[in-house]
Amino acid sequence: MKYGMYLDLDQCVACQACTIACKMENNCAEGSQWNRVVAMGPYGQYPDVKMIFVPIPCQHCEDAPCVTMCPVKATYKRADGIVMQDTQKCIGCKYCMAACPYGVRFFNKAELYVGRLKDIPAWDRVPEFVNPEVEIRPRHVVEKCTFCVHLIDKGVKIPACVEACPTQCRVFGDLDDPQSDITKHIKLKGTFQLKPEQKTKPKLYYGAERDR
Ligand code: SF4
Ligand code: SF4
Repeated sequence: MKYGMYLDLDQCVACQACTIACKMENNCAEGSQWNRVVAMGPYGQYPDVKMIFVPIPCQHCEDAPCVTMCPVKATYKRADGIVMQDTQKCIGCKYCMAACPYGVRFFNKAELYVGRLKDIPAWDRVPEFVNPEVEIRPRHVVEKCTFCVHLIDKGVKIPACVEACPTQCRVFGDLDDPQSDITKHIKLKGTFQLKPEQKTKPKLYYGAERDR
């Protein structure tokens, strides 16, 4: 089994539902966006111009440089391909952030508040909505998308971003299963991956047919 995600860029309308769902599901702190939707363009010439919206979570690379670079093995890859972050082991050195070509890792900026806890606005101490199934994000460590591993491990088949997307542009599943929806989508549509020159073998596949 190898988990991956397919993103149909022809369907993404940049509503950011996935970004919000991710933050709420994972108790992400202020400043952390494990799933960003990046606007690219415009392409073409006025009045025939187009924008493209590219959701960019962790690519769960098969050959992940963040795993190789972490000096304390806080970043590791599970047997099912999900790249994980052990926040108990992380020492906040940020080597993984420097090694990641996709800019999808975030350092929890607690150092800004050291010694002046009383000055932290209440809304920034803990997320506004706390999901009891996920830890309150520890400070001074690096964090990133986990494919909502807590949901996967309890048998919920899809991450929160997939559930929330109103245009169903995200397909999550087993890349090793020829009958899975994700495998069929990848076969049906021409796909590309981000920064192939980095040789990280991402498990995120992007599809786009629209003329741009
Ligand atoms: Fe690591 Fe970055 Fe690849 Fe995610 S996208 S597995 S953080 S190198
Ligand atoms: Fe795009 Fe879906 Fe995210 Fe909305 S929820 S921004 S359509 S990926």
